[in-house]
Amino acid sequence: MDHFDYRAGVLHAEDVPLAEIAAQVGTPVYIYSTATLERHVGVFREALAPLADPLVAFAVKANPNAAVLATLAKLGLGADVVSAGELLRAIAAGIPASRIVFSGVGKTEEEMRLALEHGIFQFNLESEPEAEMLSEVALSMGKVASVAYRINPDVDAGTHAKISTGKSENKFGIPYDRALVAYDRAAQLAGLDVQGVAVHIGSQLTDLAPLESAFTKVGALIERLRDAGHAIRTADLGGGLGVPYDPALPVPPSPAAYGAMVVRVTQGWNVRLMFEPGRVIVGNAGVLLSRVIRVKQGASQPFVIVDAAMNDLLRPSLYDAWHDIRAVRPRNAQVQATVVGPVCETGDTFATARDIDAVEADDLLAFMTAGAYGATMASTYNSRALTPEVLVTGDQWAVVRARPPVEALIEGDSIPDWLRG
Ligand SMILES: *Cc1c(COP(=O)(O)O)cnc(C)c1O
Repeated sequence: MDHFDYRAGVLHAEDVPLAEIAAQVGTPVYIYSTATLERHVGVFREALAPLADPLVAFAVKANPNAAVLATLAKLGLGADVVSAGELLRAIAAGIPASRIVFSGVGKTEEEMRLALEHGIFQFNLESEPEAEMLSEVALSMGKVASVAYRINPDVDAGTHAKISTGKSENKFGIPYDRALVAYDRAAQLAGLDVQGVAVHIGSQLTDLAPLESAFTKVGALIERLRDAGHAIRTADLGGGLGVPYDPALPVPPSPAAYGAMVVRVTQGWNVRLMFEPGRVIVGNAGVLLSRVIRVKQGASQPFVIVDAAMNDLLRPSLYDAWHDIRAVRPRNAQVQATVVGPVCETGDTFATARDIDAVEADDLLAFMTAGAYGATMASTYNSRALTPEVLVTGDQWAVVRARPPVEALIEGDSIPDWLRG
């Protein structure tokens, strides 16, 4: 459920008409709803209510905007970060280091040092060489790093191949069968305190079964690790819960169903459970608002050319992802059209032969469910400025990331002396 609704025939974000934002900020623009963020955090928390003190660490990569992170920080969420940049952004937005987890296969020595300086809650290690490096870095600072190993459970998440992370051929985690050896070795490293097990099998999961089979493997591993003398105190179950994109498809499992499964499967684990939801918190809390530049008649159907493009919202091009497309002021007529951006790539296509609200040049269109993996994946391809972002709460709204002037693109480069005449 979200707070983007039609009122008197005009699409609103909470109490703000989208056209008002377009008129003042221009398009394209990302618009986030605070009430929707709050609702999603509440629903996720409620689903985990039977658990003692779970740590919910928002996956920052889904939406790293400072205002979004500050909203989530106020609601008590932690952060799952995958780079120094995300770590610093999370801390700057008010997320305490005691609620931060550091994931990712390529953490550098510098990133480890930074995270240790801040005293984060847990490093999720993804290889044995990484464990050795972290131990050395920690010892050199006179510190001990709290760690978990991310296990690759070899489970098919049943999602798009580019967002599947838990198959044995994926780069993530350590092989399940290697875990006991890896934990024994990590326990010998003086700079590490081995406290947990972690898993994350992919994103936009629309079925709980692969999650349940991954979690079951984690439970069995915890038992074996304890038998081998490891004091396992945390289990990080990752993120991955899907959100509805295409209204014609079945709705993905609810956070309540997910929570019930987690409570059932983790009974008796006797650990602090950790979660890393990204999409399910922010996906439906954002839209990408765009204006129709013109409608062009193609050989077989019209092309609706909008001012947003693949550089602003990469998901359709990268993952063949579906975003619902709605006119801000529907004309009560439908048309079948292909919706494209101005970028010079055939992949710059948001929808092919889709039945959408009939639109004309200058009409506003909203791409729904664009709050996750939207602005964060934007680039300046075709020398297009990055899209601004707006946060709405009730009848108030604020620009939370301004549209940079296109001059900034030019000024960012420099021409070496030998090229200056
Ligand atoms: C991306 C990612 C997440 C978040 O995934 P969602 O599908 O957005 O919930 C969580 N944990 C890790 C390690 C990730 O890489």
